[in-house]
Amino acid sequence: MHAALLVTFSLLAADPIAADLVLRGGTVYDGSNSEGAAGDVAIKGDRIIAVGKFDIAGSPRIIECKGLIVAPGFIDLHSHSDSGIVQPKTRHNANFLMQGCTTVVTGNCGSGPTDVADYFKKIDTGGAGTNILHLLPHGSLRSRVMKGDANRPPSPDELAQMKKLAEQAMRDGACGMATGLIYTPGTFSKTDELIAIAEVVGKHGGIYASHIRNEGTQLLESFDEILTIGKLANLPVHISHIKASGKAAWGLAPDAIQRIRDARTAGQRVTADQYPYTASSTSLSATVIPAEVRIWEKLKAALDDAEQGPKVRHRIEQSLGGRNGGESIMIASFAPERSWQGKTIAQIAKSTNQSPLDVVLDIMRRDGAQVVNFGMNEDDVRLFMREPWVATASDGSTQSLDSPAQPHPRSFGTFPRKIGRYAIEGKIIPLQQAIYSASGLPAKVLGLPDRGYLKPDYYADVVVFDPATFRDVATYEKPLQWATGTRVVLVNGQIAVEDERPTEKLAGRAIRHPVKP
Ligand SMILES: [Zn+2]
Repeated sequence: MHAALLVTFSLLAADPIAADLVLRGGTVYDGSNSEGAAGDVAIKGDRIIAVGKFDIAGSPRIIECKGLIVAPGFIDLHSHSDSGIVQPKTRHNANFLMQGCTTVVTGNCGSGPTDVADYFKKIDTGGAGTNILHLLPHGSLRSRVMKGDANRPPSPDELAQMKKLAEQAMRDGACGMATGLIYTPGTFSKTDELIAIAEVVGKHGGIYASHIRNEGTQLLESFDEILTIGKLANLPVHISHIKASGKAAWGLAPDAIQRIRDARTAGQRVTADQYPYTASSTSLSATVIPAEVRIWEKLKAALDDAEQGPKVRHRIEQSLGGRNGGESIMIASFAPERSWQGKTIAQIAKSTNQSPLDVVLDIMRRDGAQVVNFGMNEDDVRLFMREPWVATASDGSTQSLDSPAQPHPRSFGTFPRKIGRYAIEGKIIPLQQAIYSASGLPAKVLGLPDRGYLKPDYYADVVVFDPATFRDVATYEKPLQWATGTRVVLVNGQIAVEDERPTEKLAGRAIRHPVKP
């Protein structure tokens, strides 16, 4: 008896852990793409201090996690919460906390604040529910320097100014730069302009993330452009919301994937992210209106012009044709006519006795709309998902449950959908990979030294979920619904979700990327 006790004591020779909080008895996935193991996680202040088996000193708060999964809080590489995260009503980012997401990256698709110091100060002052990192948005930077949507290359002076502001943004803690090459004014920039600015970003340790120039039939050419930018500007590149968009591009995924695999094998630093849905979402104008005329005044002038008018109409009709005559475009947000939300352009055309083209022009005349586009193929989505360099990201934003819009459900369901439906139920990818793609991998992409894993000394960003019930509830018809099965979420050691309800704590921080001298 005495001998057995001695053995036990020698096995537990380490000092007992003095923690504030212990998550006890769950299956711990540490974020590294390895299988889960039974264990505890101890937290003191804002840090994790022990993971695995250990003795507990004193009487910390204990949360029993038997039957539950304990994982690093998820990191959303692609958020559009730039404006929502500094507004009182949405700064809690509850729809993301309820997905187990503890950190989001803004500035994506080239749009957002360009004064990084000012933006981070607003977050420091007002607080946020999740941590925030920021990419310098190239489109907004270009608008600021070149005074709007200039359809021309920058002058040498303008380019120098953009580089200087990029340098400042990096010094203020941006984690890289993001472009949106289907949007104005990003679409007006040539590759050499992007290389010149990306070079500055790379020098300071940042990444280049891009909504690439074409996600449809020119997918491979667009991959080539981002790979060229990475090589010539000498920085890691990241493909945002990877997809093969539109029926004509279906089946391109295997070749596209091979292109990236080859680049990685050759030593290039290239990654991607993806949301687990077959529909995308953006503005109606970016979907069907030619870039030069996306502002109503310009579009109206072109339509009124005897020569230009028929050409522009034809191009919009062609675009609609590639989207089943408007059947694959659903209105997500249109303030002047809320009853159109949730309906397709084709349905609205029928019910209002107009052509789909006329419906589009009517909407454009009234300030445009946000839309959901059903343009992807499930097989392609699954192929991209299986790649070990594809992270999970939402492309969504912070939303309140009483939003007047009918947004894409990804803002409420991305992470539990991938983990719950694709990994646990569908077994499309292993659970540890689904967790890694939302934690360790995005942390690596961003160069975060102390988040994304459950390890001692890392920040205590943690999610505890029930594998049986961790699911997305949000649908295209009814998107404004929180995910289920999220038992506990910790942000910097503070309880942000408990018993599947947000606590309204603003425990997030603006995370400044360490400045590389
Ligand atoms: Zn985008």
